[in-house]
Amino acid sequence: MLGTLMQSGYQAVEDPSLADTIVVNTCGFINESKEESIDKILEMAELKKSGQLKKLVVAGCLSQRYKEDINKGLPEADYFIGSGDFQNIAQIIDKEENKKKGFYDKSTFLQNEATPRINSEPFYRAYLKISEGCKKRCAFCAIPLIRGNLQSRTMDGVVSEAKLLVAGGVKELNVVSHDFTDYGWDLNKKGIQASPYEILKRLSDESGAHWIRVLYMYPDGIDDRLIQLIKERENLPKYFDMPLQHINDEVLKRMNRRMTGDFVKKTIDKIRSQIPDAVIRTQFIVGYPGETDKQYEELLDFVEEYKLDRVGCFKYSFEEETKSGKLDGQIEDEVKQERHDQLMEIQNDISREKNQSYIGKEIEVIVDGVSEETDLLLEARSAHQAPGIDGVTYINSGTAEIGDLVRVKITDAHDYDFVSEIVQPEV
Ligand code: SF4
Repeated sequence: MLGTLMQSGYQAVEDPSLADTIVVNTCGFINESKEESIDKILEMAELKKSGQLKKLVVAGCLSQRYKEDINKGLPEADYFIGSGDFQNIAQIIDKEENKKKGFYDKSTFLQNEATPRINSEPFYRAYLKISEGCKKRCAFCAIPLIRGNLQSRTMDGVVSEAKLLVAGGVKELNVVSHDFTDYGWDLNKKGIQASPYEILKRLSDESGAHWIRVLYMYPDGIDDRLIQLIKERENLPKYFDMPLQHINDEVLKRMNRRMTGDFVKKTIDKIRSQIPDAVIRTQFIVGYPGETDKQYEELLDFVEEYKLDRVGCFKYSFEEETKSGKLDGQIEDEVKQERHDQLMEIQNDISREKNQSYIGKEIEVIVDGVSEETDLLLEARSAHQAPGIDGVTYINSGTAEIGDLVRVKITDAHDYDFVSEIVQPEV
């Protein structure tokens, strides 16, 4: 949207109170993200009072998912654009007659290398989208309802965008999709060669990026070839972002996940036997309909036994039109909260213990700038700390510029973050 708008003559400003047009790009996936999106829309609508803000645009998944009535529910907003029409944003909001109409022609627009793009991240990192939509049908998930079936970009298109980003100063690429391991499945059906292994190998060989971090891998798609590739390549962080959701067979079945707990354990064992220092990040859902105390305890035992490096936990969110929304045994919010808090408490101890084993070690980090906590610290991240979702590495000794890659020695470790000092200013 930034690329298309700026190509049409719009200018970007940092401070929303200076803007005459504001686009809120929304998420509509679970209740918490919907609430966050609506709060942001209402907060931005306040800026109309000063007379500076003329157009408030609601774009993205919330708009797409609730296209029937979102314009009635949010009279504060002027334009509504779904998740498949963002490339037309400039033409849409230029016309007064498009106000309050809503544009939802397609659920997905598959960008290509010719789609104008402005990197909205800091200059040294970027997200690289390789596909849209998802072909799986996890019973709790609204994503296929909103974004439709899997559509993969061509390997040439992805690699050429990656090269352009790197030529513009990007050192850290974060490869995103709803499920990395399904990449190319739809292209193969049309006789076009593409696979997760091949796209990652090509990005590693051709992009020139310092780190290429893959996010969202469905466990049954992590095969020996992929593990071997990640093991061998220096520019592929040994970081496996693998949402597991649960470990109990019955719950996994009700979630329509295509695996058993035993399979999950074997996959983790396989990764760890090949790459002993691999960092495994995952997320679980607690309070899924019908989850018994016993099934939940099985999950806790697994968390304690497998000691995964990074764990996120969601309380099950009831979503209309999903399969799980129709299941018996919906669980009370209080119970979900208790399960969530208990699991995270156990995981905090595990994370702290794991992080403390890094004290005294030297690692490479990329500098994000002065810390938001205090300007006496720099904030940086290692290859194993993805932006926005993992902890950070604070630096309290030495100087560096934003975007520099430096070597640091870990001097202290907390539940999620490290404290360090620079030992080598340039890597
Ligand atoms: S694989 Fe991920 S995006 Fe696809 S249906 Fe399952 S949870 Fe949703």
